[in-house]
Amino acid sequence: MRRKSLQLTLYLLDRVNLMGYVDESEVNGPGSRAVVWVQGCSRHCRSCFNPASWAFEVNQLMPIEALVNKILSNPHNTGVTFSGGEPFWQAHTLAKVARKVKAAGLNVMAFTGFTLEELRGTNSPMGAEELLAELDLLIDGPYVESLAVNIPSSPVSSSNQRLHIFNPQMQDQITWASDQIEIHILKNGDRLFTGYRRYEVENN
Ligand code: SF4
Repeated sequence: MRRKSLQLTLYLLDRVNLMGYVDESEVNGPGSRAVVWVQGCSRHCRSCFNPASWAFEVNQLMPIEALVNKILSNPHNTGVTFSGGEPFWQAHTLAKVARKVKAAGLNVMAFTGFTLEELRGTNSPMGAEELLAELDLLIDGPYVESLAVNIPSSPVSSSNQRLHIFNPQMQDQITWASDQIEIHILKNGDRLFTGYRRYEVENN
């Protein structure tokens, strides 16, 4: 299957297949965060916030060390969020990134369309346990449009999703809300929208 062979290739090359990246986001987890969007997701949820991330194709291959250096070069990043696409299809390489940024004092969070039980099950993606072991926070479950939350105090976008706090020190940092928009002006002048309503903004 294509996603498995791509996963194996990335593992062998020690590279992350990126869909996008931004520094200093405040709508993708607690504090000020680097956000790493990976390429590839097979779920195709209705009203997915990021359909450009679905295809399992090579987009931007970045060596692990280069990605870590990029994250750490911005002193305002206090954490990293892996989003997608599906981060757990690149779990092994993202676990390596996580270990290195945690060693530098950052916390690590991930969004996933899998449930935690699936990630701990026998059919989980390669490296799932390895990445889970590095996470401080996890939001699991696919986005289900009919269960959309749409309230400014919720860290999840649909009510089937669950927030797992693996690091008790982060218990009092669940202060961000999913139902917000952030606009980043990039160095080349492009605008990057992020946050749950990004899809609505870009399509209006
Ligand atoms: S799991 Fe996430 S990235 Fe994948 S289709 Fe659903 S909402 Fe989009």
